Amino acid sequence: MIDRYSRQTLFQGIGEEGQRKLGDSRVVIIGCGALGTIIATTLVRAGVGQVQIIDRDFIEYHNLQRQMLFDEDDIREQLPKAIAAQRHLKKVNSSVEIEGIVADVNYTNIERFISGADLVLDGLDNLETRFLINDACLKHNIPWVYGAAISSSGMTMTIIPHVTSCFRCVAVSQNIGSTILTCDTAGVISPAPFIIGSLQSVEAMKILVGAKETNRDLITIDAWQGTFHRFKIAPREDCSACQGKYEFLEGEAGVRTTALCGQNTVQVLNHAAKHLSLEDLAAHLKPVAEVTYNEYMLSFTVDGHEMIVFPDGRAILRNTTDESLARALYAKYVGA
Ligand SMILES: [Zn+2]
Repeated sequence: MIDRYSRQTLFQGIGEEGQRKLGDSRVVIIGCGALGTIIATTLVRAGVGQVQIIDRDFIEYHNLQRQMLFDEDDIREQLPKAIAAQRHLKKVNSSVEIEGIVADVNYTNIERFISGADLVLDGLDNLETRFLINDACLKHNIPWVYGAAISSSGMTMTIIPHVTSCFRCVAVSQNIGSTILTCDTAGVISPAPFIIGSLQSVEAMKILVGAKETNRDLITIDAWQGTFHRFKIAPREDCSACQGKYEFLEGEAGVRTTALCGQNTVQVLNHAAKHLSLEDLAAHLKPVAEVTYNEYMLSFTVDGHEMIVFPDGRAILRNTTDESLARALYAKYVGA
């Protein structure tokens, strides 16, 4: 075992004691797309003892451009991402306990998933679940590493509960959530998530070995421009999560879906949404969907599904009662 990690234990920041700490650690990675596959690969290779990977999706061809753990065989076998990741990584390091879990992480199950974890890593593509991770990690005093990438840029920050500012503090101060860009509308080039996922992995290693120099700043990068910036984020006095009010965890905030009986539609309510510019949304959706809109509503059709979006963030998905499909389409194309 020591031989496998010899180049890593030679590194002063880790050493043999750090290696033992990695081996005794348990991390939970929520979301296994571009960021999640980078993080999972790095931490399994580094010898983190237990790695849980949670994701709700299956692999599609347009994922292969940036989700570096997956291949065409996985698509032919119709494997969920969590299971494909587990299979590939088992071959990389059989001494790590790897568990792939196919699930939609929500307020009813997140506490069970993160219970007993030393660290939670964000490999998500939507804001709502990040607010949920933030609440759950603050409540259970578990550090977590936020990461997001889109287009050629990305950002990351380490959140140590009740020490650093939390993700809701960051989101307010940086106006995160005011944009409606998602990877499905703005696109993404792989180096952006590769850089952010790598920075998240370094933070994970530092936290797990107990290094003092964990990053307390918000880091933003642009891979195309070659820029790297750091921002100090002060905790906000009016932050409800910092004050122990966990609105997302209690199911009071965020996206809620309801199948409307007899109408064969699902309604999506987004409590976190601010006023949505339908004109901007239409511009982002045009390259990937059929879009019509006026000042009252926007309708778009993608993969045979029609969704109607209203300026208050509410949406209706037609001709289905599948609530998880509605949540997924909303997160992908409207951006929750
Ligand atoms: Zn806060």
